[in-house]
Amino acid sequence: MNFRKLVIASAVLLGACAATPDPGPTMTEWRLVIHGGAGVITREGMSPEKEAAYTAALETALEAGAAVLRNGGSALDAVEAAVIPMEDDPLFNSGHGAVFTAAGTHELDASIMDGRARNAGAVAGVTRVRNPIKAARAVMDKSEHVMFAGTGADAFAEAQGLDMVDNSYFDTDRRRQSLERVLEERARTAADRHGTVGAVAIDQDGNLAAATTTGGMTAKAAGRIGDSPLIGAATYAENGVCAVSATGHGEYFIRVGVAKTICDRVKLAGDGVEAAAESALAEVAELGGDGGVIVLDGDGGYAFVFNSEGMYRGVVDASGARTAIYGGE
Ligand code: ASP
Repeated sequence: MNFRKLVIASAVLLGACAATPDPGPTMTEWRLVIHGGAGVITREGMSPEKEAAYTAALETALEAGAAVLRNGGSALDAVEAAVIPMEDDPLFNSGHGAVFTAAGTHELDASIMDGRARNAGAVAGVTRVRNPIKAARAVMDKSEHVMFAGTGADAFAEAQGLDMVDNSYFDTDRRRQSLERVLEERARTAADRHGTVGAVAIDQDGNLAAATTTGGMTAKAAGRIGDSPLIGAATYAENGVCAVSATGHGEYFIRVGVAKTICDRVKLAGDGVEAAAESALAEVAELGGDGGVIVLDGDGGYAFVFNSEGMYRGVVDASGARTAIYGGE
């Protein structure tokens, strides 16, 4: 999808006798793009019930963000609104349903970025805040800092009045079974981590924003931080350039600096978002990693790019919502 600008011409101004008619206020067409993780996601490995459940969850997230954008709300509010229902949904590896650490606990990472002034907020290794994305947003809005980690991050979230839970709130049987399998086989597959969620949006004023939130990787060591809370690795947004949210094997995404690399390719090399994303993911693959990204450009053009078998994903704009799961869709 390419350039999308809706020029609302004012009949009054067109009728006036100005030498150059003022086209009136310019409104960008809003759009929201989401992902629910990339990995070994194949038709063969999916039951019709599971496929329907993922599709419904993606549609719920799309509608939560679309409700903000449709009413003239900000891209920043929309990305936060879109990821909250996914954090609350045990299908995804973020919030309730997050993967377990090797110690049998949960340590969650999240980040959010506003493309207007490139403000950003992030939390890493939180264990008690119910919605880590809200904590990331609070770091951005209510502190002079960009990132908080561990107990300080939980304490900050609590002081901001966010909902706090016991760490066991994040438990699910499915993720416990993954932990047991990984510990027993001493091998982690891409299926043991997928489910990270993220969103990118452009609002009616042309502002961009991005958000990413995750439980990380099954059986990760205590204190391990992935790419998801790192601005420039999994999350980036700059108005007029691009917005990115990434999911995949975090260590590789950190080393490539995927989100910032994509935005730099768009800004400095003049690449389109798809080509920029493909080239950053090629670097990830060269190092041995896999995963995917969702990207929006400054005009609302978007791309889903992944080098794994599938990626839970969706897009919504004024023309409606679409979701997909497998490669080649
Ligand atoms: N990027 C996340 C991490 O490494 C996991 C994922 O997106 O699948 O923590």
